[in-house]
Amino acid sequence: MARAAATVGRDPATVTLTAVTKTQKVSALEQAIAAGLRVFGENRVQEAQSHWADTGLRATPGLSLHLIGALQTNKAEEACALFDVIETLDRPKLGDALVKAAQKAGRMPGLLVQVNTGSEPQKAGVLPGDLPGFLDDLRERLKLEPQGLMCIPPAGHAPAPHFAWLAREARRHGLASLSMGMSGDLEAAIHHGATHVRVGSALFGERG
Ligand SMILES: *Cc1c(COP(=O)(O)O)cnc(C)c1O
Repeated sequence: MARAAATVGRDPATVTLTAVTKTQKVSALEQAIAAGLRVFGENRVQEAQSHWADTGLRATPGLSLHLIGALQTNKAEEACALFDVIETLDRPKLGDALVKAAQKAGRMPGLLVQVNTGSEPQKAGVLPGDLPGFLDDLRERLKLEPQGLMCIPPAGHAPAPHFAWLAREARRHGLASLSMGMSGDLEAAIHHGATHVRVGSALFGERG
């Protein structure tokens, strides 16, 4: 990741490696922590509970836990209690649920808005054309200020135009964080301004 940043002329300190630990054994999490990694991504609330809360690893000093998978409104309270950042805010109802959940949990994680940059019917995320209205709704009605944007470009398409578009939208809307790039396309994402790359298989090997 540092090499990829240097290659495209970015200061490696401006790009955070989010280690994606879905489906991994707890021993792999322990090794990653021992190697100095502190920012981790999980797809599911329940698996994150068993990986981080049940093992006590959640208390690792400096740990930052990100939810990168879809969140159901009925898990919002659990998610607020467990995660430092929720990267998958993508609908008004979830915004409402998170405001309520944060009051109960006594903390509000950082929030990223997931954008369905390829307008894929099966994929989560706000449609590109709906992004300005969605951000207005979060800010004005719910008094929520997201930190940034997240996307997963369509499989089988060149990811660079999606990354470039997301970076432009983040600038336009005054959002600092850009979570984009996975094992297969992290160089392109870093080139286009990613502040967080979400890397699973390139760190831990292919998932079983
Ligand atoms: C699994 C996953 C990743 C990591 O993917 P790799 O290709 O293994 O690096 C990144 N982001 C999201 C949203 C994921 O679900």
